[in-house]
Amino acid sequence: MVAMDLVIRLFVCLLVWAIIPSELARGAQSREIKRVLILNSFGQDFRPWGAYAKAIRENLERLSPWQIDLRDHSLVSARSGGEKPELPFIDYLTALYSEHPPDIVIAIGAPASNFVQHNRQRLFIGIPLILSAVEQRRVQLSNLPDNETIIAVSHDFHLSFETILRVLPETKRIVVVNGTSPNEKFWLGELRKDAAAFNKKVEFIWTDDIPFQQFLEKSETLPANTAIFWHLMNVDAAGISYEGNNALRQLHEVSNAPIFSYDDGFFGNDIVGGPMYSVLEISRLTAAVAVRILNGERPRDIRPAAIKYAGPKFDWREMQRWGIRESNLPPGSKILFREPGIWEKYSVSLSLITIVILIQGGLISGLLRERHRRRLAEVESRKRLVELAHLNRHSTVGELTASITHELNQPLGSILTNAETAELMLTSSSPDLGQLREIIADIRRDDQRASEVIRRLRSVLRKTPFEMKCIDLNETVRQVIGFITAMSRARNIILRCVTTSVDLTVKGDAVQLQQVVLNLIVNAVEAISEADSSEREVSVTTNLSDDIAEISISDTGPGIAAGDLKSVFNPFFTTKPQGVGMGLAIVRTIVEAHQGHVSAANLSSGGALFVIRLPSARGRSILT
Ligand code: ADP
Repeated sequence: MVAMDLVIRLFVCLLVWAIIPSELARGAQSREIKRVLILNSFGQDFRPWGAYAKAIRENLERLSPWQIDLRDHSLVSARSGGEKPELPFIDYLTALYSEHPPDIVIAIGAPASNFVQHNRQRLFIGIPLILSAVEQRRVQLSNLPDNETIIAVSHDFHLSFETILRVLPETKRIVVVNGTSPNEKFWLGELRKDAAAFNKKVEFIWTDDIPFQQFLEKSETLPANTAIFWHLMNVDAAGISYEGNNALRQLHEVSNAPIFSYDDGFFGNDIVGGPMYSVLEISRLTAAVAVRILNGERPRDIRPAAIKYAGPKFDWREMQRWGIRESNLPPGSKILFREPGIWEKYSVSLSLITIVILIQGGLISGLLRERHRRRLAEVESRKRLVELAHLNRHSTVGELTASITHELNQPLGSILTNAETAELMLTSSSPDLGQLREIIADIRRDDQRASEVIRRLRSVLRKTPFEMKCIDLNETVRQVIGFITAMSRARNIILRCVTTSVDLTVKGDAVQLQQVVLNLIVNAVEAISEADSSEREVSVTTNLSDDIAEISISDTGPGIAAGDLKSVFNPFFTTKPQGVGMGLAIVRTIVEAHQGHVSAANLSSGGALFVIRLPSARGRSILT
């Protein structure tokens, strides 16, 4: 155990010994300041180098373990050329950095690189130098001193022109935009050389001899099938310098032709795209090389190969504007700034709307199905009601058989007596023809009475489908009274009927409403009969109150037991020994099927009172 403990302690000591010094060193390193001087070719914001300077600065700060003291200067003389302004600039820089010389100098672009290289005997002697973003044709690569290195690039205008013709095969003309500074003049020659290979396919138009503003005007009305190749516009034919992206932006705003370029420092708003230098790639490499040199490596040992164009990339918005098909792009092309389609843009809202519509659709179809089922159920229940009511009518008529028989027997008996009397009269030699005529008239009247009884009976017993029509409730009541009179008379009961003089039209089924009145009157007659009351009267009245048609049926019977008032309308509720208990249940079902209401109560005088309330057709028409 002791041995084990010793081993662990030894291991920990070794670890501390190994880690702490390097951490201390790193801490010390991070406190150290490294002075970096960036030399711009034209100005801090001249394209494309302004973009490189910015990205190199960002990457240096990101990669460097030291604190970076970064300063930059611009070679203003590069705009017009000439060595005269260079001399005071050299003196200025020498004076500025005599006390604290930079640890490294980074020249961006060919003009700045050429300037430092030419004046190396007087400027930044012995200080490491990186020439960055310089086309290899613009510097002497063969005899670079040991403390200089280069992040070179390799222009390929041939590929740029080829790309234009590939993505827009109809192109007949390429306008090359290029300025007049010494650097731009150099490139004009190179551009013309590369363009020569395409002379048979397209016409090249060179703009270097006209001021940029003049070209802008012309660019508004370029002939169809023209493309613009944007090289540089640092200084135009009028000697005007163009900083930032202003020149390109102006051209993009007015030009009627698509613009291509070779450097993605110009990409992002105004140009279509193609194979281009990647500002990020070149800047990252420059910063990484600078850090290695600051860390003690010799510049001559870090000389990467010239950087070529990165993979082609295109601006989707420009492709849309100029009708460039995706299938025309070179293989491996990236499409950027693709505007999301309506689905991608509003996917959440659209999904929610779709879900809501689906739910709504589901609810609507569910409700429709429910309505359909309810309709079917209603139709079915009406059919059942019709059948039940028909059965109920049969049983009511059964109860009325005695009085119906009596009612039929009376005219039939009279007919027989009158017929026999007529026969006797005809046996005499001189029958009284006047009397015979009277007898025959009596026979006809009695026959009509009997026919009327049968007609009423048939009308009650007929089975008809439920049919809503405008019917006169007064007439319905009168018909039932006519039918039931014989029965009440047979039972020695007075049937009083007082119908209102106002129109009592309701919408309903005539046969079923007849049955309602019939059931209530039959019940009243039976109640009086069973109770053997001394006062024997059933009164039926009709009335119209607030557009509600009312039929009241009261009797002088014993009334309904207080405890039964709530149950009398329940199916199978009966207090009669032979009763079925369906009469009032059917009454309530029929009345409610007519959107009406029926109530039962006891009169203070002792009998029962039933009131039927139905919406009058007049009231309905007012409502609807
Ligand atoms: P049923 O006549 O076969 O008994 P109903 O449904 O027609 O069936 O009547 C149910 C019950 O209501 C009756 O048994 C009776 O007790 C009571 N009833 C109905 N009408 C009257 C009335 N006018 N007076 C007293 N009781 C009544």
